[in-house]
Amino acid sequence: MTLDALRFDNAWARLPDDFFTRVSPAAWKNTRLVDISPRGVHALGLDPALFTDDSPSRETLRQVMGGETVLPGMDPLAQKYTGHQFGVYNPALGDGRGLLLGEVETDDGFWDLHLKGAGQTPYSRFGDGRAVLRSTIREYLAGEAMAGLGIPTTLALALSINDEKVQRERVEPGATLLRLAPSHVRFGHFEWLYQARRNEDLQRLVEHVITRHRPALAECEAPAEALFGDTVARTARLIAAWQAYGFVHAVMNTDNMSILGLTLDYGPYAFMDRYEPTLVPNHTDTAGRYAFDQQPGVGLWNLSVLGQSLTPLADPEALRTQLAEYEPALQQEYARLMRARLGLENVQEGDAQLVQDWLTLLADAGADYHRAFRALGEWAVDEGEWLHEEVPAEGLAAWLSRYRQRLEEEERDAASRRDAMQAVNPLYVPRTHLIQQVIEAAEAGDMAPLAEFRTLLADPFTPRPGMAHWAAAPAPEASVICLSCSS
Ligand code: AMP
Ligand code: MG
Repeated sequence: MTLDALRFDNAWARLPDDFFTRVSPAAWKNTRLVDISPRGVHALGLDPALFTDDSPSRETLRQVMGGETVLPGMDPLAQKYTGHQFGVYNPALGDGRGLLLGEVETDDGFWDLHLKGAGQTPYSRFGDGRAVLRSTIREYLAGEAMAGLGIPTTLALALSINDEKVQRERVEPGATLLRLAPSHVRFGHFEWLYQARRNEDLQRLVEHVITRHRPALAECEAPAEALFGDTVARTARLIAAWQAYGFVHAVMNTDNMSILGLTLDYGPYAFMDRYEPTLVPNHTDTAGRYAFDQQPGVGLWNLSVLGQSLTPLADPEALRTQLAEYEPALQQEYARLMRARLGLENVQEGDAQLVQDWLTLLADAGADYHRAFRALGEWAVDEGEWLHEEVPAEGLAAWLSRYRQRLEEEERDAASRRDAMQAVNPLYVPRTHLIQQVIEAAEAGDMAPLAEFRTLLADPFTPRPGMAHWAAAPAPEASVICLSCSS
């Protein structure tokens, strides 16, 4: 199978004609491919051998990413949606710098190909429609890392750089990302039609999503309600995973929320280093609306906006009942993930408290969130010193004696427990300071660190020789790296 042999289609283009605007991708100066993701290649059912240097598929991909060509069956368009940004409804949104080029159907379902950084669209407002290398690398690595952790996310097929000079806080190199997702439908798509009182079109949108992505729900008596219930459950699981792995999305506006419960639109996100529950990586979010510890509540708020948008199609009481499932589902999933991270197989009453007290210890000690779990995994076998170095907290010994007692109620031997823990506790995480190193190298023309880090993030649990610097916490004296929405 070659890249052009993929049969592209774009079903979105058959929806009512103001659901989108057809736009051709802008042709950028001197586009070069920087990296191709084996995970993305695999998702499309392609063979990585296709993209070897000088191969025709590699050249075709380069041309697509530079806006030089569109493949047969593609029908590039910008999607219209609206959304609540920082709690305020904005009717003027839509794809402002990305285009849905088309989609392909594989044995596992549909994949949208969305070119981010494809130029201006009618929804660009004051934006230039461009993407910069820095933010593109951040999105690319985040998608790889999320997928490596088993957390639902958009992916990318590839990243390209070009010779456009893009003005942000400074002038930066232009880039594009070819993003993959089963669907780019956002809560904001539903909000748009609800606010415009277009109930028939709202119904069409629900049917579109169900037919293509949730066919089992088509049989339900109340499909809109069933879709909402599905999104509630998936969003609960998604945000539970973010909380368990220390991920702050940072711009949880409803236009950045996926109807399929994927992590979508990576901007000024962060994986925390020190465990810091109130972390706000986006320096423009001065009120801390999207702080780490606010995410579960924001998820509920966003889902209630989605539920409201579906009221023309479903019984409001039934929607409320579905929404009430969110908090228990999130708690349950979070507890499951944290038990696994602590190596606990069976469920005991005091587990939530044990987890909470562990987190308090980490916060008090200013411990590195990811390294602390790795060290705990090793401690479970050797009771060695590493954990004490990572978590220099006074209360550690007392907590460990409770933990030791709790482990006595487990059947697994220590070595298998350690292996199970290290299979869910990542060593390699896209920390802001490490991504920054990748960006600086790439801007200086060295793309090797990007590919190296991408490879590690794809399997973040397995230590690789000579790669310890990719598992390092930032130096304590390191300056804070400021991120903003244009990240
Ligand atoms: P975001 O906060 O990245 O989710 O973006 C919010 C909205 O602004 C979306 O409708 C984007 O398409 C649009 N947008 C962001 N950056 C740009 C840009 N450089 N040019 C045009 N539109 C943009
Ligand atoms: Mg967005």
